[in-house]
Amino acid sequence: MIAVAVDGPAGAGKSTLAREVAKQLGMLYVDTGALYRAIGLYVLRCGVDPKDRTAVSPLLDNISVTMTHEQGNQFVWLCGEDVSGLIRTQEVSMAASQVSAHPEVRAFLFDLQRDLALSTPAVMDGRDIGTVVLPEAAVKIFLTASAEERARRRVEQLEKAGQPADFDRVLAEVKQRDEQDTNRPVAPLKQAEDAVLVDTTGETPEESLSRMIGIIREKIGSYLA
Ligand code: C5P
Repeated sequence: MIAVAVDGPAGAGKSTLAREVAKQLGMLYVDTGALYRAIGLYVLRCGVDPKDRTAVSPLLDNISVTMTHEQGNQFVWLCGEDVSGLIRTQEVSMAASQVSAHPEVRAFLFDLQRDLALSTPAVMDGRDIGTVVLPEAAVKIFLTASAEERARRRVEQLEKAGQPADFDRVLAEVKQRDEQDTNRPVAPLKQAEDAVLVDTTGETPEESLSRMIGIIREKIGSYLA
């Protein structure tokens, strides 16, 4: 397995940076958060409280989630429907974070993630990739930034997507998701012991990108094109 695990809190720049790293190194980029988002969307559509484990678990029997990749773009399919765009709302972000605390949901998505990494060299981003999903990943990076900087970036991202957002509200949500992701009993967000910490606060994306490429080349440069 030639895999790069990129974990870290919401808004640390994981998806932008991991996607670019994958492109530059000729690897597949896999955004695992999209899978949790698809489940969050399904649960919301059913009118079920995403925090309610006993109500969420049985729904998994009816869900099929798959991922496809085309020219560096990832598509997520929920029961045959392309939900790649629909899962990018604040409401779904929160639901994803809540459903991801349920062990049944994590188990449901485990094989899908591992199979992807086993089938092709991949850069996979998430919360527990280096700790749980791919503990044997050749390179592990824990990407972070201050909560304020992450909220500012998220506001920018939402505005670009035509969804104007209030900074204070986004900051509160970033902190709430950090709290949920860090304190859940199953697969909490934490830095793997063998992960390299990359704090992107105050850095341009180019600076963070070049640091990440440097770390990866140092560890597995000989396996890469
Ligand atoms: O990365 P993204 O913000 O899209 O992830 C949405 C939510 O899915 C996160 O808040 C986190 O709770 C959950 N998640 C997870 N494990 C992963 C990826 C995402 O628990 N590997």
